Amino acid sequence: MFIFKKIADLKQFLEKQTGSVGFVPTMGALHKGHLSLIEKAKQENSLTVCSVFINPAQFNDKKDFEKYPMTLSSDIDMLSQVGTEVLFLPASDEIYPDGIGQLAGYDIGYLDTILDGKFRPGHFNGVCNVVDRLLEAVKPSRLYMGEKDFQQCLVVRRLLEIKKSTIELITCPTRREANGLAMSSRNELLSKSAREKASAIFYCLKSIRDEMAKTPFSSLQERYIRYLDSNSFETEYLLLADAETLDLLTDFAPSQKMVVLLASRLEGVRLIDNLRMN
Ligand code: AMP
Repeated sequence: MFIFKKIADLKQFLEKQTGSVGFVPTMGALHKGHLSLIEKAKQENSLTVCSVFINPAQFNDKKDFEKYPMTLSSDIDMLSQVGTEVLFLPASDEIYPDGIGQLAGYDIGYLDTILDGKFRPGHFNGVCNVVDRLLEAVKPSRLYMGEKDFQQCLVVRRLLEIKKSTIELITCPTRREANGLAMSSRNELLSKSAREKASAIFYCLKSIRDEMAKTPFSSLQERYIRYLDSNSFETEYLLLADAETLDLLTDFAPSQKMVVLLASRLEGVRLIDNLRMN
């Protein structure tokens, strides 16, 4: 596996390649969810580039940034084991030579006002900044992202539209632990017992899907927020939305594609998950 820390070196290497490039941006602390994206990119492209960069611009909470897990040597081992051809490992000043005080602004409209856009002000603008800069460095044919970050996929789709980009966005299903907990780097921050307890999130999402034919969404929403919060969670949102636009819905509309999205804290760790309803 080639490891590049400088954009210029990465570009020089990639310019010599023929064939399609698949790109998987990550913030490291890799797990099988990340590797599933790499594997898909490898199947569909001549060369796969993964980046590991903890993007300071997308953390609206400084403490969250400071405690974000870092496991670089195990990341490198995992990436080379699955046959990743290129790892891009930039330092912050490589991506943000002028610092993060003066970020570019991206008009993602409604998406910035709901769900994580509402609860993490500035987060998606930080995501757009890093993805834009990484795409400029890698110039991939295809970009691979996980549905675990459902809203992020829509934001990046919007970014590609804004940039009039021809890069194809491929969204990949959420990989879960045996107990249903969506794999996430942040799970590393949970105690062993909380990691078990956190499976309640998927239980709630599945129960809502199982009960949607009989019960209005508002009753299920109330019931499962209460269930989580009486089990030491602090839930930020549990909402139903159109899966294509993320327009929030007040009740199930089986003729539409729907998704339920949730953000909840356990032991102070913010966990997000979602499940398509149909
Ligand atoms: P992150 O390192 O958390 O920024 O994630 C990098 C990419 O991996 C994003 O596109 C995520 O949506 C994706 N990802 C994270 N967790 C999972 C998972 N459990 N299953 C599939 N993809 C994931």
